[in-house]
Order: sequence, then structure tokens, then C-alpha cells
Amino acid sequence: MASDGFPVSNSTLPFWRTDLHEFDSHRTTPELPAESNIVIIGAGFSGSSLAHHIYENNPSPPSVTILEAREACSGATGRNGGHMKPDVYFNVPKYIKKYGVKAAVEVAAFEASQVFDIKALVEKENIDCNFVLSRACDVVLDAGMAKESHDAFLKLRESGVADLKDVYHAYGKEAEQLSGVKGALSCFTFTAGHLWPYKLVLHLLKGAINKGANLQTHTPRGSIKAKKVLLASNGYTAKIAPQFKDHIVPVRGICSRIVPDETRKAPFLPYSYSLRHGPSIIIVGGARVKFWTDPSHWYNVTDDSKLIEARQVWTGIMGYSSDFMPHVGEVPGKPGRMVLAGFSGHGMPLIFRSAKGVVNMLLHGTRFEETGVPLVFQATQERLDSSKNEILQGGHGKVNTAKL
Ligand SMILES: Cc1cc2nc3c(=O)[nH]c(=O)nc-3n(C[C@H](O)[C@H](O)[C@H](O)COP(=O)(O)OP(=O)(O)OC[C@H]3O[C@@H](n4cnc5c(N)ncnc54)[C@H](O)[C@@H]3O)c2cc1C
Repeated sequence: MASDGFPVSNSTLPFWRTDLHEFDSHRTTPELPAESNIVIIGAGFSGSSLAHHIYENNPSPPSVTILEAREACSGATGRNGGHMKPDVYFNVPKYIKKYGVKAAVEVAAFEASQVFDIKALVEKENIDCNFVLSRACDVVLDAGMAKESHDAFLKLRESGVADLKDVYHAYGKEAEQLSGVKGALSCFTFTAGHLWPYKLVLHLLKGAINKGANLQTHTPRGSIKAKKVLLASNGYTAKIAPQFKDHIVPVRGICSRIVPDETRKAPFLPYSYSLRHGPSIIIVGGARVKFWTDPSHWYNVTDDSKLIEARQVWTGIMGYSSDFMPHVGEVPGKPGRMVLAGFSGHGMPLIFRSAKGVVNMLLHGTRFEETGVPLVFQATQERLDSSKNEILQGGHGKVNTAKL
């Protein structure tokens, strides 16, 4: 690992950060305030959503300071693919096996609802963030995987436990036709969104600052006393809260922007695509199958100044949780400290509502069970005591752990 576990200062440049907002390197006051009721660590989608909910419909908000190691939204949120793609079917069978039907269905419904929360927010606040409500299209090109996903989907549909009315599945010839992807053997479409995440986050931060929040980018800058500390520090969380070591692991991911040359007309893509592991691979972000076998590229890495195998692209640090569920709520055994992290490369459809749950616990004493956040997301001592690490168990292919 080239960095010391904190965000590095020479990160790769993501496309989303090429048109910077006036608050990108903002410091509301020249000096760090000596104290603040609430300190939020991290100014990505998690930190900005927490700040947004604290001020939403709140006539007497507490004082809030947001600390950001680099520029605002310079972490994973400023480096992802811009997709807000709920998982409404893919992992549901796995979660049923692991957590039972009720919990699995709760997670899927929670994911699906957030796209509409963001749509409503964008419309209400007239946010210029290129948000488009669309259909996602998961395309499977590998024969074995296509059959497996087809069988699993039919079984799930027959069971009648999950809400699949928004999911359309095509298998065989129709998959190619529906997806428009040559060689597609199976595909699934469902409601999703895509947006320019940096613009959304900066809008939320600006809104909070206008209502009294103090944003301090480019820390460290001294000391601050706080009654409550909210960890929205994603893959870097374990560095400041060591109980999350091996539970929220920094994992490096990759993304790219492809611009067709001027002589070619870019085809209209009706969907937000995911292409799953076929012989012909288009590398538009993800591309895990290419580098996943060597974990030294990605596991426990906080250095987003280097690329993985390719050029003209950028990297970002995700916070993978060892059981693939985020850690939300009070940090076990640490009163006054709360966490919203570990979204395992899938935070866009989960963070906004989870942040609302944390703020309701914080400001109104709401019990976790009453927040509407799936119970399996709760940060518990039991999860921290577990030594299981599902990340290295090869959820995305065989991993050579000897390379760690
Ligand atoms: C390449 C890539 C592809 C992705 N693809 C998808 C996808 O397809 N779908 C999806 O839903 N999600 C995807 N994600 C994940 C998604 O971007 C994250 O889940 C989400 O952005 C996490 O938001 P966050 O605010 O928790 O973390 P971040 O955006 O990482 O924000 C955390 C912030 O905390 C700051 N920080 C950390 N430690 C400290 C400290 N000690 N002091 C001060 N500041 C600190 C960091 O600098 C950072 O700005 C992808 C991520 C990457 C990198």
C-alpha cells in the first residue's frame, strides 16, 4: 500500500471533477471552529446527505462542521460511474439464504425507493446534476452465468416473495434484441437513474452551508471539539475508527469515459448498461474480471493516484464491508459517534435514505428499528466481532490472496 491509509494528495483526475464548483475547496471560516455540536468527517454523498437532512425542515439546527481531507466530493462519489442502480433482483436470492426472506425483501425495496427520492429532490430543488430516470440493463454474455441468473430469477419469481413487477427478463434470442448488445444471452431491465454525482453533492453542500454549516476542506488543520461525530469517511474509516479495520476495507476501483471520435456518430444508448463477464469485454468502469485475481491492485488500497492496467481512466477508493452490508448508526461502544460507511461499491441507491435514518436517530432519538433503514445495515458489535471476510472469498472471481 503506497499511502498511509488517508486520502492521497495526488489522486487521478475523474471526468466529473473537470468542471469545478465554486465550493470545491471551500472553507467557510479561515480557521477551524474551536467547537461544533456535530462534526461530519467526509464530504462525499454520505457527508453531504447527512448535512442536508440535518437542516431539512429544522428551524433550530445544531452547529455543524464538515471536515474533508481533500476537495469536496473528491472521494468515491466524485469517481464512480454516475449510476444509481438499485439491486432489485440480483443479490436477492443470496440475501434470502443469508438473512431470510424478510430482510432480503426489505433491502431490495429500500434500494428501489431511493431513486424516486433523488428524482423528487432534484425536481423540488431544481438541481442541475444531469439526473435522468432511466432503465438499467444488466446483460449477461457468459453462457454459464446466463443460465445461472435465468434459473435464479425464475425461482425467485415463482417464490412470489420479492417485488419484481418492475423487472423485465429476457433469455436467449430476445436478450440480444432487447439489450441491443451483440452476444447477449440473458438480460434484465429495471428502473434506475443516472446523474453527475459531483454536481448533486456540491448542491447539497452549498445548501447546508447557506443554512449555517461550516465546510472545511483540505484538513488536517488543528483541533475541534464536538458533541457528536459522524463518520462519512467511506474506505478510509478504519484509519480514524480502528474497530472497522478488516470490516470496512479500502478497495480500489476503476472507471473511464469513452468519447467516440468525431467521424463516428455515437449510438443512442437507451439503458444504463452492466455487461457481465463475457468473452468480449467493454471496459467502462468496473472491468473487475481483468484485475480481480490480483488483490494487490485493489484490496486494502487507499491510493487513487495510480491506475489499474489501463490508461485514460481514473481510480477511486470504495469502502467494502467484509459482509457486503454497510455500517449505519451508532458505532458500537462509542456513544456520540455514528457511522455511515461501507457501501461496498454500491452506495448511490443506498446512502440518501440511510443518512436520513442516521439524522433521525441523532436529532430525534429514533430507534434504529424505526428509521426504515434495513436492519442488516445496523452497525453492531456482533458484526465487528466476526472474523469472516466475504470480499476475499471471491464474489467476483478467484482471488489470489498470496499476492496480498
Ligand atoms: C470506480 C468506482 C465505481 C463505482 N461504481 C458504482 C456504481 O456503479 N454504483 C454505485 O452505487 N456505487 C458505485 N461506486 C461507489 C460509490 O461511489 C460509493 O458507494 C459512494 O460514493 C460512497 O459515498 P461516500 O460519501 O460514503 O464516500 P466518498 O465519496 O468516498 O466520501 C468520503 C470522503 O471522506 C473523506 N475522508 C476520508 N477520511 C477522512 C478524514 N480522516 N478526514 C477528512 N476527510 C476524510 C474522503 O476524502 C472522501 O471525500 C463506485 C465507486 C468507485 C470508486
